[in-house]
Amino acid sequence: MNQNKSIDKFLEEFISKAEVKEEQLNKAVWILETTGNADAADLVASLSNEFRVMFSDEKAYEDLIYFKNQNFSDPLISRQIDILIKQFKMNMLPKDILKDLSIKEAALNQTYANFRSKIDGKIFTENELREILKNEKQVDLRKKAWNASKEVGVILAPKIVELVELRNKAAKHMGYDNYFDMMLDLSDISKDELFNTFDDLKNQTDNSFSQVLLDVNDTLSKWYDVNMDELGPWAHKDPFCQMDPIESPNLDEYFKDKDILKISKSFYEKMGFDLETLIKRSDLYEKEGKNQHAFCISIDRKNDVRTLNNIKPNIQWMETLLHEFGHAIYDLSIDKDLPWLLREHPHVLTTEAIALLMGRQVYTKEFLQEFLDVTDEKVLDDVHLGLKRRQLFFSRSAFMITEFEAKMYEDPTQDLNNLWWSLFEKYYKTSRPENREKKADWAAKYHVGLAPVYYYSYLLGEVFASTLQKELLNIAEDDKIWKKTAAKFLKEKMFSKGSYYRWDHLIEHVTEKPFSSDAWIEDCSN
Ligand SMILES: [Zn+2]
Repeated sequence: MNQNKSIDKFLEEFISKAEVKEEQLNKAVWILETTGNADAADLVASLSNEFRVMFSDEKAYEDLIYFKNQNFSDPLISRQIDILIKQFKMNMLPKDILKDLSIKEAALNQTYANFRSKIDGKIFTENELREILKNEKQVDLRKKAWNASKEVGVILAPKIVELVELRNKAAKHMGYDNYFDMMLDLSDISKDELFNTFDDLKNQTDNSFSQVLLDVNDTLSKWYDVNMDELGPWAHKDPFCQMDPIESPNLDEYFKDKDILKISKSFYEKMGFDLETLIKRSDLYEKEGKNQHAFCISIDRKNDVRTLNNIKPNIQWMETLLHEFGHAIYDLSIDKDLPWLLREHPHVLTTEAIALLMGRQVYTKEFLQEFLDVTDEKVLDDVHLGLKRRQLFFSRSAFMITEFEAKMYEDPTQDLNNLWWSLFEKYYKTSRPENREKKADWAAKYHVGLAPVYYYSYLLGEVFASTLQKELLNIAEDDKIWKKTAAKFLKEKMFSKGSYYRWDHLIEHVTEKPFSSDAWIEDCSN
């Protein structure tokens, strides 16, 4: 009874402070990302350091370990203690390391954001380079654009290696071999199981990938009028060979004169979600100084959820909008009566699964028919093939990046560029491009430096999304998932639960069986 009282008091005191600090931090992040304002950047840096410091208090950590040993029978209490202990472990570092980490990460972020690539002396933004890779027919210019997209790597690489060593130092301080192992463990992911799952995904889709690769190379060599053995990453539609390399340029045409915001609204309305307030709070169109990508943020773990987008009338932004709104409906549907600590998804993979699931509906026959009035039979019949190609190519990238990170954190002093391209050859069954010896192509991938030990979540999210797609079609008794019955199921069984369950238990609760790769493998095989 007494102990119960003191855990209640502890949670009340600690959480009330954390809640306020997180909301301040989120609001500052929002201003920074929508304006690029320098004062906001300073504020974000100091608030995030203050937030981290709250979770590094030795006395509070000792109390938590004491409470943990009390084995509280109330699952709401024991779950909160577990979550807090993990958050503390990520931050229980000597103050100088904590500060050094914040400073180095901020500096890396700054360098990444300010870097502009050049082609023949002329500056190109990231979006402009992507545009060339997406549409340009001229091989020479494509190669230049691909090379330019990697230039940032050489500049970032030494800074990233420094950070990797610092992160490892922090992990060793907490008793782990390295930072990769620590981050997986503190995210409730078993390293062995993760790599076994990835091996299984790879092996079971290996034949599909080989067949698709033949098709792709055949098409690309015709598009660019080169021999197959002259093809390289420059022939892909994105700098990291993650998208469908032969997506029909015609697909974009259907979106040219469409109001994709209106389409998103009506898509979610059909599921019973009213996006009016969310849209009012969001920042949707391009403007100077604003972050050029997209994200969703829950400001207060209550009703203030916002998305940042840079809408253009094309298929990518259609997908992105459905993706970010997918994160948002999840956040908004979490049971507000849960304690603050549990009013969040249990792992990024569960919210990514929902966002990816919603985003990929764009690439279904049913979506194109219903929202874009597409009638061309060939387009409708082929659209699912593009989705399959994308799953296959994206998964190769996720395997590659995940194994790269594991090995980089094991030994950051090795020849990392050689490691990067060896893994490319292993997973893409394609020779590495020439003349990359003195480069640092691995460091050009944003996540390697700035969103470490995260990439695997996207692929696990895709895998779970395939399971959900199947489940929801059954529930909706239809050939599309944008139905009120499907949404009701998601809300009640999944979203509302927040972090009440650990991610794997949540999946079991939703699907009534353990995490399974079957549906995804099937999607990649047909
Ligand atoms: Zn997302």
